[in-house]
Amino acid sequence: MCRDFISCPPVPLDPGRTVEELRELRELTGDENGAQRVAWTETWVQAKQWLSEKAAATGAQEEIDEAGNQWFTLRGGSDRALLLGGHIDSVPNGGWLDGALNVVAAVEVLRRIAEEGKTAVSVRLVNWADEEGARFGRSLFGSSAAAGSMADQDELRGRRDSEGAALPEVLAAHGVELDRALDARKQLASAAAYLELHIEQGPVLESLRLPLGVVLGTFGVERHQITFRGQAAHAGSTPMDKRRDALGAAAKLALEIREIAKRTGDGAVCTMGSCVTKPGIVTSVVETCVILLDQRHLDGERLAAMLAEAKEASERFAREEDVEVEWERVWAIEPILFDDELIELADAAVAEVAGESHRLPSGPLHDAAEVSRAGVPTVMLFVQSLRGLSHTKLEDTKPEHLELAVQALDRLASKALQKLAG
Ligand SMILES: [Zn+2]
Repeated sequence: MCRDFISCPPVPLDPGRTVEELRELRELTGDENGAQRVAWTETWVQAKQWLSEKAAATGAQEEIDEAGNQWFTLRGGSDRALLLGGHIDSVPNGGWLDGALNVVAAVEVLRRIAEEGKTAVSVRLVNWADEEGARFGRSLFGSSAAAGSMADQDELRGRRDSEGAALPEVLAAHGVELDRALDARKQLASAAAYLELHIEQGPVLESLRLPLGVVLGTFGVERHQITFRGQAAHAGSTPMDKRRDALGAAAKLALEIREIAKRTGDGAVCTMGSCVTKPGIVTSVVETCVILLDQRHLDGERLAAMLAEAKEASERFAREEDVEVEWERVWAIEPILFDDELIELADAAVAEVAGESHRLPSGPLHDAAEVSRAGVPTVMLFVQSLRGLSHTKLEDTKPEHLELAVQALDRLASKALQKLAG
């Protein structure tokens, strides 16, 4: 207990409080199936109000921008700002930590900073709107608007949820005009650095028995639809050597992409997530087989090489099976590398609180990728996910690891503030 008034330290960081508050949020906005904080719903609004009350106690000023992002600012000696970002929205029946960990941990960091007095630069917590895209199928809504990379307003205007409600109307009911969403860009004008803490959502840290890791960047993604076309023919009357079996070629490719990922290494992943055959009856050779291929790597050149290898392999298999093959790009994004200096600071912060750090890429995209694309120096911290599970109520992290994560975020924020002040 502190008796000497003069040398009493300011109220220290209380990472245990973050764990309690995360549980409180889970009680408030979840049910027996998991978290229900889907963006643009009543439960999401309730979660934002809850966050608002927590952050208000630090003296931070709240503001909602044109894209629905919720900002809390502790004004410092200058407008330049250190940003701590996360998202309180979840998928339906989601986990309690995905996104919410960062916003709740950042409130604790704000408390510590506010207690210590004014900082040289401002410190801002941002709760990004609709990271998950669960209701309308458009991820990273708020952060892409703030980053200025949102370019699909025309398409978004036509989007509807599963009940048929139109996106522009639903957003308007939450005070967001789609046409003005890009005005949120001004929020990043003063951003000097961006930090995001997230659960790993994968099994790497757990397999290494490490609580925390530093994220090097997010994978580049190449997503393609590949169509193999052969000839439908009777399953009984067509000899094996006379077939033009579209599924035969697709099946060979399904196995080959695993070899491509293995050969490429350094975290390379290739997934064939869908395969649809026509006519799709047991009495016919497959005439058409449409597959979806997702390839990811942190290195742009190696990602391009993986794509070229898959294309070459598909043509070879098409020849072998006497079918045709056609590729169509569905979506792609380049790899996004985080800031070298912030990666060093994050490494030091993790080593201080956990003894050992590990650097790893992120397979999933995060709001941090959008902020980084916008030119703001960015880094992320990952905390171990149990069994690598996420987007399910089974998502979990040990409480002691959550506490270490809060400490690491706080250390990193301190180091970043020192750097920005210097
Ligand atoms: Zn998330």
